[in-house]
Amino acid sequence: MKTKHTIQSLREVIEEDRSKGFTIGFVPTMGALHEGHLELMRRAKRENDRLVVSVFVNPIQFNNKEDLEKYPRDLESDSEMLLSVGCDYLFAPSVAEMYPVPDQSSYDFGALGDVMEGAFRAGHFNGVAIVVRKLFEIVEPQKAYFGEKDFQQLAIIQQMTMMLKLPVDVVPCPIVREPDGLAMSSRNQRLTAEERALAPKIHQILQKAVLLKNVLSPQEMRKWTFEQLSAIASFKIDYVEIADDKMLQPVQHWNDSEGMVLFVALFLGKVRLIDNLRIF
Ligand code: AMP
Repeated sequence: MKTKHTIQSLREVIEEDRSKGFTIGFVPTMGALHEGHLELMRRAKRENDRLVVSVFVNPIQFNNKEDLEKYPRDLESDSEMLLSVGCDYLFAPSVAEMYPVPDQSSYDFGALGDVMEGAFRAGHFNGVAIVVRKLFEIVEPQKAYFGEKDFQQLAIIQQMTMMLKLPVDVVPCPIVREPDGLAMSSRNQRLTAEERALAPKIHQILQKAVLLKNVLSPQEMRKWTFEQLSAIASFKIDYVEIADDKMLQPVQHWNDSEGMVLFVALFLGKVRLIDNLRIF
């Protein structure tokens, strides 16, 4: 594996591979890698000749200063994990390399960008879109892999690639969970032992809620889930939502859309966790 810190040095090696006809698969991350990330990478490695992974904690997608400061960073341990999945190129740029001057680009994702994470984290998706577009332009992958853990982010990236006609195939990958059901996340490291013991309740409650789809309306399921989560005093809920799986708009009836997903975002202590579970 080669580690590259500059755009130019990464582009040189990728250009050489491309000239030999190799296909490029790409997994953008913010590091503090875990099994969820590695699953995306194993798939990318299987489906492409070369695997490029970026590790970059993108400051402009954080709307909370403490979250950015406390975001776990460990490039050495990340490098070891990347070796284990056969990563060819690790791209780990500095903030100055990515943003020599502030990027003022502004994207309008319409209704998709206004709900849930878009409503609770002002500017978040604009920051995500700026960095992912930049990374796509640097790496020029045929395929890029994103987790359904960040379901709305995945939908935003899909919309951006369509809007801008970017020549990249965005590949959705299922959520990877801990044995107790907690969705893997770099932020889980920041949970105290007590918080970590409570965190699996999120997935357990979502699972129970989805089993009630034949007896509850969407509104009732939403309320039921909210009440179950609220009963755990340490959970401070941002939202519980049931939305269609394309534009992520709240649904009123089960026949409003073919695909529907139950979403939650909450604070457990100082750590904000998100999760989702498909209903249909
Ligand atoms: P992050 O480093 O959190 O920005 O995540 C990088 C990529 O890994 C994103 O596409 C995430 O959706 C994906 N990812 C993070 N956690 C998981 C997980 N538990 N299961 C599947 N994909 C994940």
